[in-house]
Amino acid sequence: MYRTHTCGCLRACNVNETVTLAGWVQKVRNLGAMTFIDLRDRYGITQIVVEEHSPAPVRAVAGELGREYVVQVTGRVVERSSKNPRIPTGEVEVTACELRILNRAQTPPFTIEEQSDGGDDLRMKYRYLDLRRPPLQRAMILRHRMAQAVRTFLDGEGFLEIETPYLIKSTPEGARDFVVPSRMNPNEFYALPQSPQTLKQLLMVAGYDRYFQIVRCFRDEDLRADRQPEFTQIDCEMSFVEQEDVLEIFERWARHMFREVLGVEFEAPFRRMPWIEAMERYGSDKPDLRFGMEFANLTALAKGHGFGVFDDAEYITGFAAPGCAGYTRKQIDALTDFVKRPQVGARGLVWIRTEADGSVKSSVDKFYTTDQVRAMAERSGAAPGDLTLILCGPKFKTLTQLSALRIEMARLLGLRDPRRFAPLWVVDFPMFEWDEDTQRYYAMHHPFTSPKPEDVQYLESDPGRVRANAYDFVCNGTEIGGGSIRIHDADLQARIFRALGFTPEKAEEQFGFLMNAFKFGAPPHGGLAFGFDRLCSLFGGAESIRDYIAFPKNNAGRDVMLDAPSAIAPEQLDELYLRLERPE
Ligand code: ASP
Repeated sequence: MYRTHTCGCLRACNVNETVTLAGWVQKVRNLGAMTFIDLRDRYGITQIVVEEHSPAPVRAVAGELGREYVVQVTGRVVERSSKNPRIPTGEVEVTACELRILNRAQTPPFTIEEQSDGGDDLRMKYRYLDLRRPPLQRAMILRHRMAQAVRTFLDGEGFLEIETPYLIKSTPEGARDFVVPSRMNPNEFYALPQSPQTLKQLLMVAGYDRYFQIVRCFRDEDLRADRQPEFTQIDCEMSFVEQEDVLEIFERWARHMFREVLGVEFEAPFRRMPWIEAMERYGSDKPDLRFGMEFANLTALAKGHGFGVFDDAEYITGFAAPGCAGYTRKQIDALTDFVKRPQVGARGLVWIRTEADGSVKSSVDKFYTTDQVRAMAERSGAAPGDLTLILCGPKFKTLTQLSALRIEMARLLGLRDPRRFAPLWVVDFPMFEWDEDTQRYYAMHHPFTSPKPEDVQYLESDPGRVRANAYDFVCNGTEIGGGSIRIHDADLQARIFRALGFTPEKAEEQFGFLMNAFKFGAPPHGGLAFGFDRLCSLFGGAESIRDYIAFPKNNAGRDVMLDAPSAIAPEQLDELYLRLERPE
């Protein structure tokens, strides 16, 4: 037996027991007569003592130890004279009577402690060392517990966990595919699933009316903090359901997760917000409801008074930042610079101060009467002491820009508390999204999403007006999940493909297998998928999903530890009938 206990479990009640521990040397403090060793495993740290009168071989081994050596120690548990209340084992230590080096270690490139002194690249390259650190261990344990909570709940509701293949054909999420060449079928390629969307729909045709899977998905997109080329979804699908049924069951699921994993309870039902309301009131289809600063439409009030910038604008909107009337010129200039950054893209920022005595002062005083300025401030919800911030331009562009400013203000005001949670459902998404560059409509969710029955009449005449039976689960300004009720009627599906500019041949080529299956008795069905990595980082209170993935890729999509992607041998290329060309 390598150990009788872990390094996290000894307490005062174990005093006088003889125990054997195994783990990594976190730290050695040699005080001459005594040597203290912090022995670490994933359960905690236990202090080991080697004393002057310890057996000579033990003292000799203690003198050799270095950081991250793997050792086994047998000894007696004794009460510590100076207790360490910061660690659970801090009341005791183990006096070593045997000490054995199981393996030596090179000095690690950074310290394996709560805070590492390694930069991002170094930590990624030695990820297995990074994973020894408590913050990452906590993240991995949280992720594990969450996966178990998902399974317990869904199993209890009769969902079956069914695996679907990774070597498939392009799926409809609309990102770029990762492809895999087939040796046995020369010049042909599999696509890795962007999600199991089509397969889970086929499972509905097959009669498995409640399906789920915690599954890897692959999308070849540019990366950001909350994106990875391979990521994990909690993917779910149900038959014989309407939108309400899906929202009901997954709201219960979300409550179960918050309760089981974090001990957080929500009294009220989750808010439901139509997409258009989310856009007009928060400028985002994933509004952060931990704080207010709702937008007001100021177009009617602000237009037509001789201020050219507003007079020419399609839409004028603003919000009141609480308690910011005292912002200095410099602070306001910084906000103006913020909205003018290329990532935000506004042309300028208009402000109104509502002073403590109720008087108003604005950056556009010369174009408006005091009453007109006051009316705008009041419409924005400003109370005395607040600062109204206003942007204008094309409607949705302006709303999106103001959303960036709202989030920035929340950051400056410290309103983005990671331990508070504000979940909601965003519903009634538009079916289609117009793309200026390609001058065509795209499916906002995916092409199997069902339009609202009452909007089907506009499919050909006014596609932009058609709303979908699609919904997103949003929390703290992040889209955690999304899904839709699907189309199960072949004629309607054909009309959607047409609206999306697919020729019947193209639709057949890409999704013929699904359309064909639908001819054999497809039940009404719908579902959704949650981003598991994002859910973990939300629960963990972190911005980035990386620390919740054991072996993530860097921003260039590289695994710097494995050094992947990498070149392959010429013979492998030959087997695949592939010839390489260097990029220009
Ligand atoms: N497959 C969809 C996605 O990945 C989710 C769904 O509609 O169920 O976004």
